Amino acid sequence: LVARMQGFGTTVFAEMTALANRTGAVNLGQGFPDTDGPAKLLEAAVEAIRGGANQYPPGPGLPELREAVAAQRAERYGLTYDPDGEVLVTVGATEAIAATLLALADTGDEVIVFEPYYDSYAACIALAGAVRRPVTLRPSGDRFTFDPAELRAAVTPRTRLILLNSPHNPTGTVFSRDELEIVADLCRRHDLVAVTDEVYEYLTFDDAEHVPIATLPGMRERTVAISSAGKTFSVTGWKTGWITAPPEFVRAAQTVKQFLTFTASAPYQRAVAYALGGELDWVEALRTSLQSKRDRLTEGIEAAGLTALRSQGTYFVQADVRPLGFVDGQDFCRVLHERAGIVAIPAQVFYDSDAGDPYVRFAFCKRDEVIDDARMRLGRIS
Ligand code: PMP
Ligand code: GLN
Repeated sequence: LVARMQGFGTTVFAEMTALANRTGAVNLGQGFPDTDGPAKLLEAAVEAIRGGANQYPPGPGLPELREAVAAQRAERYGLTYDPDGEVLVTVGATEAIAATLLALADTGDEVIVFEPYYDSYAACIALAGAVRRPVTLRPSGDRFTFDPAELRAAVTPRTRLILLNSPHNPTGTVFSRDELEIVADLCRRHDLVAVTDEVYEYLTFDDAEHVPIATLPGMRERTVAISSAGKTFSVTGWKTGWITAPPEFVRAAQTVKQFLTFTASAPYQRAVAYALGGELDWVEALRTSLQSKRDRLTEGIEAAGLTALRSQGTYFVQADVRPLGFVDGQDFCRVLHERAGIVAIPAQVFYDSDAGDPYVRFAFCKRDEVIDDARMRLGRIS
């Protein structure tokens, strides 16, 4: 294995799911729903295969999906993108992240990331030969946020990109307009590109609102926005994602993407094009249901004696394990697995610093009976 990939062993998600499968534990580790997406969407993929969508689609993506993505950004956020040149379909958000970083971060360039960060960010920055500059999200009140001074101090003459994820995995933070304005201000002043991972854009709770940073003044021209169908439609295995950005960024990402995968799978593109317009009621019901699952699991976590931080979005809630006498999430997760038969993720795997040591991430995108089983099992740890 090449030097730049040393230290990137098996992803924690694969590891934890394998552990749960091997031992029959309740899997609140890897974030995937245990029920399928809308029936008509599944049918649309089958129909697409029967209807002959089985050869290479165009490299940038099927026109119908690029049009549907552009329409979605316009209707939901008032952001207009030309489906022909400003939208690129990718193999999930994962490929969008990889292609964008490989296209825009040169050797030695610095990329600011908020830690805890999604694992593929660090790996793709390393693949690009670039350098990550973490800025730590810390609890402030009952949610995680950043210190603006720390963010400003992270900018150097080598900074090229700020990589942002909101709603944020794993903390569940949805960045407010004011927080995003601080990031936007830095981007404008230092001529940085914002790369935003918005895969949980529909999955926000209570009064949290997802604000795409591209909607802030002067940001559309310096933002590469990434999203995907996996979380919105509960089809994480379909790996259909997209980039919306000004043409020069889309061209750059596409240049890389051509040689990663050339193009994304055709039948799913056709099906997702349908769902982006046709299944929004279903998505709203998913959002409501996830909010009550969040409440259900959060109650169980607190009843077990942990402190849960408030999740404003995503599939995840984080808890502080110190009230139960643990100092380290990894130790806690071992005990949680042994005594309670539950798999969760120690948040420290998403950090460079030790700021994440006392936190554990739980996924609540599971059937109510699975969450209830987990609540009962959580009683065994104290
Ligand atoms: N970004 C974040 C923050 C995620 O949580 C995930 C995975 N769930 C992805 C990207 C990857 O998305 P995809 O499955 O569409 O590649
Ligand atoms: N995004 C999912 C999570 O955070 C996992 C995706 C993966 O396994 N790579 O749990």
